[in-house]
Amino acid sequence: ESELNARYTIDRFIVNQSNSVVYEAALAVSDYPATVYNPFLIYGGVGLGKTHLLQSIAHRCAERGLKTVYIPSEVFTNDLIDAIRNRTTAMFRDKYRTVDVLLVDDIQFIAGKETTQEEFFHTFNALVNFNKQIVLASDRHPRELATLEDRLRSRFQGGLVADIQPPEYETRIAILQMWAQERGMELSSNVVDMIAHKAPNNVRELEGIFNQIAAQSRFSGGAVNFNNARETVERFRRPREHVQLDDIIQITADKHGLTIEELKGARRTGKINRARQIAMYIAREMTEYSLPQIGEAFGGRSHTTVLHGCNKINDELESDPILGNRIQKIMHSIRRGG
Ligand code: ADP
Ligand code: MG
Repeated sequence: ESELNARYTIDRFIVNQSNSVVYEAALAVSDYPATVYNPFLIYGGVGLGKTHLLQSIAHRCAERGLKTVYIPSEVFTNDLIDAIRNRTTAMFRDKYRTVDVLLVDDIQFIAGKETTQEEFFHTFNALVNFNKQIVLASDRHPRELATLEDRLRSRFQGGLVADIQPPEYETRIAILQMWAQERGMELSSNVVDMIAHKAPNNVRELEGIFNQIAAQSRFSGGAVNFNNARETVERFRRPREHVQLDDIIQITADKHGLTIEELKGARRTGKINRARQIAMYIAREMTEYSLPQIGEAFGGRSHTTVLHGCNKINDELESDPILGNRIQKIMHSIRRGG
């Protein structure tokens, strides 16, 4: 069971001043687990590459034969709740305390959850005592997580705490060039420069803009028109509307001639499944909800199902501009509220 994104590897991570400290530390931690920095905690704003780096470390450690577990912290919480309900806490402990490398993403979400924090505290101690590596990512420095237990706060700061900064202009250029090259896309330096100047310096949003421009270019036989590209960037720069998951589900169902119940329900006929995956993809694009939260909104599905759905649509978008166009239209309706 691999929950790692194959694209989140270290060779696809562009390094510059904004992220060189975390990058070097990531290399060191994967080469010398539990020796140099333990724990290693990366913090920084949304879309700056924390998940990408965590998974890069996970890939490298797994390749070297280390027993490696990467999870978003909500999965730890959900697993724990299941274990409590099913009286399988012994198995739960076994699962998390017998790994060589444990990487927990979005650790900020455990703050304020009593049992999760208690359990994680013991998992943490057990691993460190056995000389196993722990890697964490948080959207803030541990001292700014107000409802984090003090004993965890101090544990989290006991190794290396390093932040990741928004990418510089040159970094944005290098990232865009890498993406274009990977897709065999011709992007003129004018266009690259314009995107790097105008796009927000958050790589996730940069990626959204790039994907959109790539989809347009496939429509017009591979060429990227400067003005079209600029319009796309400007459209993305408008402030994010507050989009609710329920609206996404309702409008996507509508557009497919389905009911909300069908989209959230258990049936997996081709048409329903497809619409569901599209809605999940849109939820990922338009909101900051986590995979488990999105799964919950879709009738209690697992985060793996959501991830699978989003990846599938993502892959298809690479070669299917009509799908891209349809999704854009649905997103447009969602922004307008129906
Ligand atoms: P975070 O977890 O900090 O919110 P992610 O790791 O999900 O951010 O990154 C968002 C997107 O940006 C991902 O597709 C990731 O591959 C890409 N990305 C972020 N930083 C870099 C970088 N330095 N080089 C290449 N891609 C990056
Ligand atoms: Mg992340």
